[in-house]
Amino acid sequence: MTPFTYTRADHPAQAVDVAQALAGAKYLGGGTNLIDLMRETIERPAALVDVTALDDTITETDEGGLRIGAAAKNTALAAHPLVRRRYPMLSRAIVAGASAQIRNMATVGGNLLQRTRCAYFYDDASRCNKREPGAGCDAVEGFNRIHAILGASLDCVATHPSDMCVPLAALDAIVHVHGTTGPRAIPFADFHLLPGETPEIETALAPGELITAIELPAAPVAAQSTYRKVRDRASYAFALVSVAAALDIEDGTVTDVRLALGGVAHKPWRAAKAEAALRGRPATHDAFLAAAEAELSDAAPLRDNAFKVPLAKRTIAAVLSSLAGDAA
Ligand SMILES: Cc1cc2nc3c(=O)[nH]c(=O)nc-3n(C[C@H](O)[C@H](O)[C@H](O)COP(=O)(O)OP(=O)(O)OC[C@H]3O[C@@H](n4cnc5c(N)ncnc54)[C@H](O)[C@@H]3O)c2cc1C
Ligand code: SF4
Repeated sequence: MTPFTYTRADHPAQAVDVAQALAGAKYLGGGTNLIDLMRETIERPAALVDVTALDDTITETDEGGLRIGAAAKNTALAAHPLVRRRYPMLSRAIVAGASAQIRNMATVGGNLLQRTRCAYFYDDASRCNKREPGAGCDAVEGFNRIHAILGASLDCVATHPSDMCVPLAALDAIVHVHGTTGPRAIPFADFHLLPGETPEIETALAPGELITAIELPAAPVAAQSTYRKVRDRASYAFALVSVAAALDIEDGTVTDVRLALGGVAHKPWRAAKAEAALRGRPATHDAFLAAAEAELSDAAPLRDNAFKVPLAKRTIAAVLSSLAGDAA
């Protein structure tokens, strides 16, 4: 591990100032991803600014949503009664991730910024544009079973590994950040980026910007929501495909729907085409399957991951059918 300094922040502006003053600084959440990467020397920060003593509260907003401090632990968010009641897909997604011990350590801010699980990214004998811009990507022609089927580029075919971020995409969450010019808010859809020609730039964060909170807007449809994760093992495995879905039905017709996919793209994938295909349509299994077909129509699978296309379609249709059954 490369030597580093350690500072504990007790205020967002102080954290930003300290990070600004220390060259090569990174914020430290629970450390469940960053410390692993430092051990492998994939990340080599010269300074860590510990932000776990910052806001970890979960409070109702005046508009009927929730504001979640970035230092809130994944376990606390999943277990919060208002999250379980109003946004069950979020609670289920968090519990589907990692292990209880890791969820007890991991923070909401760190979860958003966890790095891909592409094996070539972790192996510094391999070519990886994300690690070393311009080096090439060994995954494109390599073993790419877990990689992206939507929105990838020839420069990077990695997926975003987070479960929690999939419902956040479906819920139109807002990411509150604090930088050297003060606070600003970033819509979740704009927060994570597709790889394009610069896969090393993964988010809309400016250098040194700190995530301070996540806001969930009020979303009555989310009370009827769920998360399903398809993976190689029943626990301790990342998603091959996952689906966060919320569904509202009146007189057999879809009146509102939220849908997002995990394990398929460089960012949590909002299934906007499927949502558009469903609003105002009959809530039937055939309509759910047709919407899934529409969403996956642009899929571009690699040598080893073509199975993800039918898997995603079937999982979308199954999850929506199950929610429709609950609503009936
Ligand atoms: C064995 C194992 C299995 C796992 N399985 C899953 C899984 O199935 N599903 C899943 O979703 N996740 C899984 N994870 C990943 C886990 O969810 C992440 O490691 C965790 O969410 C990261 O949170 P953290 O607080 O520990 O972040 P850290 O490791 O502390 O930080 C991660 C990144 O975020 C940055 N950061 C942290 N806080 C802030 C902030 N407030 N503002 C700006 N930057 C910040 C850090 O600088 C760093 O770059 C697994 C991890 C392990 C080790
Ligand atoms: S897919 Fe992305 S992370 Fe994986 S080797 Fe290629 S550039 Fe690196």
